[in-house]
Amino acid sequence: MSTTRTQVAVIGAGPAGLLLSWSLRAAGIDSVVIENRSLEHILGRIRAGILEQCSVEELTRLGLGDGIAEHGLTHHGIHLQFDGQRHHVDFHALIGRTVTVYGQQAVVADLVRAHREAGSEIVFEASDVSLHELTTDAPRVRYVAGGAETELTADFVVGADGFHGVSRPSIPGLTTYQRGYPYAWLGILADVAPSTDELIYCLHERGFAMHSMRSPEVSRLYLQVPNDERIENWPDARIWDELQTRLGVPGWTLHEGPITDKSITPMRSFVSARLRHGRLFLAGDAGHIVPPTGAKGLNAAIADVTLLARGLADHYAGDDGRLEAYESEALGRQWKVQQFSQWMTELLHRAPADDDSAEFQYRSQLGRLAYVTGSRHAMESLAEQYSGLPL
Ligand SMILES: Cc1cc2nc3c(=O)[nH]c(=O)nc-3n(C[C@H](O)[C@H](O)[C@H](O)COP(=O)(O)OP(=O)(O)OC[C@H]3O[C@@H](n4cnc5c(N)ncnc54)[C@H](O)[C@@H]3O)c2cc1C
Repeated sequence: MSTTRTQVAVIGAGPAGLLLSWSLRAAGIDSVVIENRSLEHILGRIRAGILEQCSVEELTRLGLGDGIAEHGLTHHGIHLQFDGQRHHVDFHALIGRTVTVYGQQAVVADLVRAHREAGSEIVFEASDVSLHELTTDAPRVRYVAGGAETELTADFVVGADGFHGVSRPSIPGLTTYQRGYPYAWLGILADVAPSTDELIYCLHERGFAMHSMRSPEVSRLYLQVPNDERIENWPDARIWDELQTRLGVPGWTLHEGPITDKSITPMRSFVSARLRHGRLFLAGDAGHIVPPTGAKGLNAAIADVTLLARGLADHYAGDDGRLEAYESEALGRQWKVQQFSQWMTELLHRAPADDDSAEFQYRSQLGRLAYVTGSRHAMESLAEQYSGLPL
């Protein structure tokens, strides 16, 4: 077994791990990123698509803003649709803030490019990744890559390995808080220009639908489906029919095009009670996940990394205050994100028909949507949370 050393061992080359390693590099701190999938796999993963204003500012501050400036689509608000009517909530007019449509895939590609040019050490296709001696001042990570076993000793280990990674399970006796939802999202990518200027979030009596986009040429659309739905039941024509039914309003046309990707994603809210165990810190989906309705998953990962990078930079400068505060600060922020994601989800999805209170809930949701779109205070609150809490 070969042995090696770094200052910070980062598990996972998703947006959280890649961004943390990049931030540390900017602060003059060495790190090694260990990823169990291939480079092609992480570049091909289609996930989130909305960046909060703070996320854009942070990526830009770190020299990662060129792609966003060139290809990102700045949105001043969202459309909320219910009862056959569409209402625009103008974040910029309400609170002077915006969000940017820029795919997670592009964020990851920008990070990979930057790391490559800088010569960062990223180990892809590492298997048997395991964490050891986390409560000592020399934690270790063991892994196998290219047939050889390596032991990496570090000052700190950061678990940025997503919901299914090895880091969170390495914390003994961990309490977690979670809830599921009785529905899932069927998402498609289609080669057709978006039929809307800004995202449409729609509550229809047949269920939630959403029109988003990835670029001026590529649309991303979603339908609420039952939890146990199978993608085989949804040929392309059925998807477009259902989208037309749920999203349609008089005088507006939903343009259809070839579907290039379709999948069903379940929804879950999850928070780990701890984001620290000795010298291990958790960041991003390793520590928490949200249903996608509020567009918060990627942004929460960026927020964690921003807080953690500040703490680690201070530590190496001799001040442990912000590193000690990381867990409580990140969790405090995360619970605000959780309640917003839960609120957006329950506002816009139809309870299953076998729920006794489904009809009551639907009418109550319509009342809530009418209140939100009719009250400046409520719209400001939505705008503030959707465009992102300050970092
Ligand atoms: C299908 C899907 C759709 C989504 N859609 C949206 C959306 O529309 N809007 C939104 O805001 N959010 C969405 N999200 C959430 C968002 O994509 C995540 O919050 C974001 O990816 C979090 O980044 P991360 O780096 O923390 O975790 P991840 O992106 O999961 O990255 C973790 C990395 O760790 C690696 N890894 C895992 N196990 C190990 C191991 N044992 N050893 C080494 N490496 C390991 C993984 O391969 C991965 O590269 C979606 C998530 C999924 C799964």
